[in-house]
Amino acid sequence: MHTTLRSDLVDLDSILDRAHAMASAHLHGLPHRPAAATLPADFESYTELPTQGLGALKTLQRFERDWEKQISGSAGPRYFGFVTGGTTPAALAADWLVASYDQNAQRNGDTCAASIELQAVDLLRQLLHWPKQWTGLCVTGATMANYVGMALARQWYGRQHGRDIADEGVWGLPPVAVFAGAAHSSTHKALSMAGIGRKQLQSLPLLDGREAMDVSALERELILRNGEPCIVVASAGTVNTVDFDDLVAIGALKSRFPFWLHVDAAFGGIAAASERHRHLLAGIEAADSVTVDAHKWLNVPYDCALVYTPHIALQLEVFQNQSPYLNAPRAVPDNYLHLAPENSRRFRALPLWMTLLAYGREGHAELVERNCASAQLLGRLLESDPLFKLAAPVRLNVVCFALANDDAGALRRLQQALHLDGTAFLSLSVLDGRPILRAALCNWRTTDADMEQTFNTLRRLTLSA
Ligand SMILES: *Cc1c(COP(=O)(O)O)cnc(C)c1O
Repeated sequence: MHTTLRSDLVDLDSILDRAHAMASAHLHGLPHRPAAATLPADFESYTELPTQGLGALKTLQRFERDWEKQISGSAGPRYFGFVTGGTTPAALAADWLVASYDQNAQRNGDTCAASIELQAVDLLRQLLHWPKQWTGLCVTGATMANYVGMALARQWYGRQHGRDIADEGVWGLPPVAVFAGAAHSSTHKALSMAGIGRKQLQSLPLLDGREAMDVSALERELILRNGEPCIVVASAGTVNTVDFDDLVAIGALKSRFPFWLHVDAAFGGIAAASERHRHLLAGIEAADSVTVDAHKWLNVPYDCALVYTPHIALQLEVFQNQSPYLNAPRAVPDNYLHLAPENSRRFRALPLWMTLLAYGREGHAELVERNCASAQLLGRLLESDPLFKLAAPVRLNVVCFALANDDAGALRRLQQALHLDGTAFLSLSVLDGRPILRAALCNWRTTDADMEQTFNTLRRLTLSA
């Protein structure tokens, strides 16, 4: 064994203690450190590979000295950019163990990892009141979950044409139409990866003042297709205004027209953990595949999302991996090797399993409702101040706003000034062709006090600009 490896084995406990001390300092410091890091302009990208190796302790020190300052506070209570969750204590502890155990969660038999994943998938299904007959698995994120959905849709579409696309490819088949309202950008990526093609996506008209699709426009398209199978991607929680497509109305069309229904519920799906918001997901039982992220509103560390489907047999056709030394492909829910896009897989279900058991129905409902109530508070604070105006009603956990004078340049400068100030982080977006700032609340630590602090800072920075 190389000397550095041998001495690190001897020093294992001090290495872990050091990492623990760094993690603890970071976690306790989160409310006070800048919500987002600012990288230096003279960022040095080159590091010489050592011959001897520094050993783990010196490498930890070097990271702490040179890099730790540039770690974002995005796991903290006032990072409202994009759609960003934090990590609950239970999920965090679990994730440490995941790396320690280093299990390959592709198979059952010589580890319990796949059994835990089976339970975690079912626990989340219970939390959200989704159909018992759905099976699911963990992937790295909603983009991958959307990819799995599109790969299943593609296989289904081939079957409608008497073709096994998994075996023979898409060659020679007519292109499949994909309909969506306000699809997330990752749907385009998923269509590209699945060989369907970004350009097959046809955006339907939205309802007035909404990001939800006009289902009557979908119906007209389906009538025009005259029985030709197609794909519909519905949104259950759009990124800007957290709008939901009418899943009941879309589902009702399935009895008249042949289409695959994929629902992207990346973060909006978690709203179903609350009795108050569950109605937004009504009709989701009609879905053929569903995406939901764990690393956003569930506050499980990156990277973890799930895809659910009632079509495990199709999934097996697409993702089976045959080899003489592996178990035979069978449509069994925890046969992940033959159901997931990956072969070797991280034991990422453990943080999900632990957080679901640790906080249960009530804990998750409280988190969802608290974030939504805080978003309402921020909305009221902004609306009641003549400097700002809301760009959309606060539907759930995202607040979209602009400056009352519609000055787009000043809005961009406000975003940058806030980033440098460090109190909070908000991202810029565009709604109805107009630039907006948006605050997305997904973190278990966020409270009303964070809203007041963020609002006061926005006000101060706007007045001093
Ligand atoms: C975040 C998000 C995605 C992409 O998720 P990743 O986990 O970043 O891959 C897809 N759809 C929606 C609606 C999202 O909010």
